[in-house]
Formats: sequence, C-alpha cells, structure tokens
Amino acid sequence: APDLELIQAHIRDVPDFPHPGILFKDITPLLNHREALAAAVDGLAAPFLGAGVDHVVGLEARGFIFGAPVAMALGAGFVPARKAGKLPASTIGQAYDLEYGTATVEIHADAVTPGSRVLIVDDVLATGGTGKAAVDLIRKAGGTVVGFSVLMELSSLRGHEKMPDVELHTLLSV
Ligand code: 5GP
Repeated sequence: APDLELIQAHIRDVPDFPHPGILFKDITPLLNHREALAAAVDGLAAPFLGAGVDHVVGLEARGFIFGAPVAMALGAGFVPARKAGKLPASTIGQAYDLEYGTATVEIHADAVTPGSRVLIVDDVLATGGTGKAAVDLIRKAGGTVVGFSVLMELSSLRGHEKMPDVELHTLLSV
C-alpha cells in the first residue's frame, strides 16, 4: 500500500492562492522528494495494474507530470489533455462551465483510438468540472474510461458527483 502519510506530508497548503479565500494544495514539495514522488506515482497506478489500460490521459498541467510515469508503470501510452489552442494538430474538444464563463479541454483527434481503454490522471479533483469534461471528451472519441486516478480529492466540493459512473481512485481525501 502507498505511504499516504509520506505523500500527505509533502503537500503544502498555500492560503489565498490564486485568489483570496482559496487554500491551494501545492504538490511541488512532493515532486521534489524522491520517495514521496515514487509513492505517489505507484499509488496512482496500482489499482489499474492489469486493467488493460491503453492510454493514460493527463490533465494540464500537473496531470502531465504524474500521468507520464503512471502510463509507463501500466505499459500504456500517454495523451495530454490541454486547454484550447495549445495542441498543434487536429483536435477534438469539450467545453465546460467555469464559475465565470466557459473553458474547453482538447486532445488530438487521433490520440484516443475507438474501443481503447483510458485512465485519466490528475493531481487534484476539486469541483470536477475539468474531470467531467475529460470524461465526456474521451467517450466522444470512442474510448472507454476505465478510471480516474487523483492524488487528492477536495471532498467538500463534491466533484465525484459530477461523474457517478466513473471509478474514482483517490489517494488522499480532504
Ligand atoms: P476542478 O475542475 O475539479 O474544479 O479543478 C481541478 C483542476 O484544477 C485540476 O486540474 C487541478 O490541477 C486544479 N486545482 C484546483 N484546485 C487545486 C489545488 O488546490 N491544488 C492543485 N494543485 N490543483 C488544483
């Protein structure tokens, strides 16, 4: 089992970032601690070993950092899901609502092949808006969402309720 206390000990609370009243969970100390980083990557991947994952989709930007080593641990490819306009080739996108306005998440149109099995990876699940858009996008591409693996869930924001049919795996719940 992953050393959850070690992981927890290397996540730093930063008050009033990026806005007053927000308590930001900063994972950069974890990235810079070799044992905690390894425990986090192992812990994100472990429930999906042997699950036949073809692609790991990492959500910009911290989902890229964790997603690539998780993909290697699972013997899968890595697919970046990015904000609109960042990917160079032909894309498919999914819009979602923000507190003010909307945003769009994109993947390359040829990245998730129809019938493939996909694990989504990110650092933090907050309101679930980003994650739900990624789930919808992968399904639009014809992929099967095998699961959604996150380091930390901010459970009071009830992000999981936006995707009740997705197997959410959370290492830390606060
Ligand atoms: P949501 O769409 O679930 O509200 O927000 C999740 C996205 O915002 C994730 O991609 C996550 O990286 C980022 N995010 C939101 N709050 C935090 C936080 O406190 N710490 C970190 N590291 N990321 C956050």
